[in-house]
Amino acid sequence: MSYVDEVLEVVQKKNADQPEFLQAVTEVLDSLRPVIDANEELYKKNAILERITEPDRQFMFRVPWVDDNGQVQVNRGYRVQFNNAIGPYKGGLRLHPSVNLGIIKFLGFEQIFKNALTTLPIGGGKGGSDFDPKGKSDREIMAFCQSFMTELCKYIGADVDVPAGDIGTGAREIGFMFGQYKRIRGSYEGVLTGKGLTYGGSLVRTEATGYGLLYLTQELMKCHGESMEGKTICVSGAGNVAIYAIQKAHQMGAKAVTCSDSTGWVYDPDGIDVALLKEVKEVKRARLTEYAAARPNAQYHEGRGVWQIKCDIALPCATQNELLLEDAKQLVANGCKAVCEGANMPTTLDATKYLQENGVWFVGGKAANAGGVATSALEMSQNSERLSWSFEEVDAKLQNIMVTIYHNLDDAAKRYGVEGDYVAGANIAGFEKVVEAMLAQGVC
Ligand code: NDP
Repeated sequence: MSYVDEVLEVVQKKNADQPEFLQAVTEVLDSLRPVIDANEELYKKNAILERITEPDRQFMFRVPWVDDNGQVQVNRGYRVQFNNAIGPYKGGLRLHPSVNLGIIKFLGFEQIFKNALTTLPIGGGKGGSDFDPKGKSDREIMAFCQSFMTELCKYIGADVDVPAGDIGTGAREIGFMFGQYKRIRGSYEGVLTGKGLTYGGSLVRTEATGYGLLYLTQELMKCHGESMEGKTICVSGAGNVAIYAIQKAHQMGAKAVTCSDSTGWVYDPDGIDVALLKEVKEVKRARLTEYAAARPNAQYHEGRGVWQIKCDIALPCATQNELLLEDAKQLVANGCKAVCEGANMPTTLDATKYLQENGVWFVGGKAANAGGVATSALEMSQNSERLSWSFEEVDAKLQNIMVTIYHNLDDAAKRYGVEGDYVAGANIAGFEKVVEAMLAQGVC
């Protein structure tokens, strides 16, 4: 039995009640087989896989808070500190009723490799609670956040563990948590990222994921002898990632012609009007029908369908499992050259396989949407220096990071004989960096 299979068996036994975590470990270790098989003796002797699949530590705690009716509510809080071989733990806080230990472990495990890919010194962690922010008043949100941080503050710190936002945790929640940390610890430090600009947040964080996606896509095209100029791009989603991906695509001379939300999609052959899209989605918080109504040549369709439009590049930026096998077939038939994921896991496994087998350059979200977490790490750097960098400075750093990420995964894939498999390349590049640091630091 190979070392990977031996470890998978042990991990399955130890974590039988955590299906999401088991799936993540299986997928990552499977894709790492080329590098693990090539170094089996060294890794086995040092129990690298046993150590990397076991969190450094995990905290679970009670979060009591009082609702608007004076009733005490109790939620469960989590923080999993998975691996800090290359830097302080870093990863978001998810507030959603579905949250449990297995899900937080799955996300924390993936975060190790994603963070390593950014080229910046950040380890992997994740946290959250089964608290549901939907329908809660601002006062209830504050009560929850303060109680959550009252316990969490014992385990985090600017050089220890730096949480960020995730589903359910936006600027408002980060603000309440930061205030409570400061109050209890008496320390003004960069203990959270995603902060407001007046108290330590970073410029470009809002644009970072969408812009970063385009910087990486541009480099991918360039290395295949293509430019962005004049390319037609299909984008899905109409949220933070999609809006700034479309904006940057236009700045690069390409034309993004689609966007979508959870009820329908728009095809605008003249190119999506970003200012109008922002007005509809960010200001009015309305449906895309309003966008189509304001643009003479735009068509609105109910349901899903952006991938049937002929394009050179496809950028799924909405949600998980939104690019299916049938969509992949349509994209290939239409001559699409590249698919880069702005969202997390938007492409199903069979669709990914079909795209790769049919010569489409495919870069998964772990690398392609890493601009967001990379800019959070730049926020940490600015906080440590007690300086704020200009928009241009942060943007230039982001661009440089995304170009480097592309080359790191391309090189890793080539070194292990899977040239052009950027998914394997991403896992290998992140893994190699973490393992090198673990080996250097001895048994810990
Ligand atoms: P937002 O909530 O801002 O936007 C998501 C968009 O996708 C919304 O327009 C939403 O529609 C739309 N959408 C949701 N479900 C569907 C669906 N089934 N079909 C079509 N459209 C749908 O999220 P973000 O833009 O921040 O995130 C998008 C993805 O990117 C997520 O997977 C996220 O995890 C990932 N990501 C985000 C990062 C960031 O920095 N923001 C960083 C890394 C990854 P509606 O308007 O109707 O709700």
